[in-house]
Amino acid sequence: MSNSFFEIKGAGSLAMHAAGSEFAEHAHLTPIFASSTFTFDTAEQGTERFAGADKTRIYSRWGNPTFNAAEKTIAALEAFGLKDNDGNALTLKAYLHASGQAAMTTMFMSNLKAGDSILTHYSLYGGTQELLQKVLEDTGISTIIANLRDISIVEDIIIKNPSIKLVHIETPANPTVNCIDIEAVTGIAKKYNLLVTVDNTAATPLLQQPFKYGVDFVFHSTTKFLNGHGTAIGGILIGRNTEHMHNKTWKWHVLLGGNTNPFDAFLLSVGLKTLELRMERHCNNAVQVANYLAGHPAVLHVNYAGLPSHPDHSICKKQMKHAGALMSFELKGGIEAGNRFINKLQMCVRAISFGTTDTLLSHPASMSHKSIPKEERLKSGITDGLVRLSVGLENIEDILADFEQALQGL
Ligand SMILES: *Cc1c(COP(=O)(O)O)cnc(C)c1O
Repeated sequence: MSNSFFEIKGAGSLAMHAAGSEFAEHAHLTPIFASSTFTFDTAEQGTERFAGADKTRIYSRWGNPTFNAAEKTIAALEAFGLKDNDGNALTLKAYLHASGQAAMTTMFMSNLKAGDSILTHYSLYGGTQELLQKVLEDTGISTIIANLRDISIVEDIIIKNPSIKLVHIETPANPTVNCIDIEAVTGIAKKYNLLVTVDNTAATPLLQQPFKYGVDFVFHSTTKFLNGHGTAIGGILIGRNTEHMHNKTWKWHVLLGGNTNPFDAFLLSVGLKTLELRMERHCNNAVQVANYLAGHPAVLHVNYAGLPSHPDHSICKKQMKHAGALMSFELKGGIEAGNRFINKLQMCVRAISFGTTDTLLSHPASMSHKSIPKEERLKSGITDGLVRLSVGLENIEDILADFEQALQGL
């Protein structure tokens, strides 16, 4: 971590060193602290730990040094190079959860109550949309879904619906990779004192830092690029109001019981070490795959905000360092051609999820977004023939060769 003698200048170095290494037996990496509880030298020390803000050495549902290492690293990456309202280096607080869904539950439940509404947009991650419409709805927290890519309608919706207390943005959104202008939406939301939460999973903090635009919370499913190897499920909630994080957010987090476990947290920390290196390769490969698909006669269209033809290309360029490695595309032959294509793949992997070392392909309409009613899916741009693709770290010539042979004769 940066100190008075040496200031880290690159996010890649920060991803390796932010957690520090002050551990027992001079362990270089943060060990897997597989311990449900932590000892107090004296009763007074126990009292002190309970009174302190750092609750990582009491009981593992409340925090654990292995969780803390990953939390510190991700918070440092989201804050990297940003300033708070007073012009000081931004400090953020993060809590690692058992899954993205658990982190999102803490995020919404700790900030809303029955009678409140969430304003969000089309083409959300399937699990998010279901959490909002099938679970939160039952608790009295309702959701308004609108086309937030059209900034001109946002203020009117907020004025007409005073129950809206929070605006949730997922950008790039999954699986259409539509982008929402974080700065523009946050600017309007803040006029009405609304909270703004951003799902930054598809971008990672290396490509996009939503806190720059004054948002309140950033969320990641760490299952994806942050872990990067597909070895563990996890989710993290990061907040800019550290006082709120230490009190309200922490209370909901520990009492809902969505804590992660030391082994998954360790795998996440190991993955973070190579985040920058991986993202460079993911991104370089993705651009080549997007260009290849866009030029292929069997392909109807490609959703990738890095392509100048994508309607959200300028928003992507404004708020992201790169369009990332998630994309989707539709074949001219529709769902049948899509299925034949997926079945013919020899190296690329048929699986949901994204952000792993391996290139993964899936079919949202029959898999990740199957539980979303067809009409809603179509409004989100998730057509029956859409194929989702997470470009991996393989050698680009092999990815393209696999696609070439699978697309032949479709
Ligand atoms: C995967 C994902 C989630 C849910 O995270 P889990 O780790 O599967 O619980 C939420 N949002 C987005 C964008 C995701 O990709």
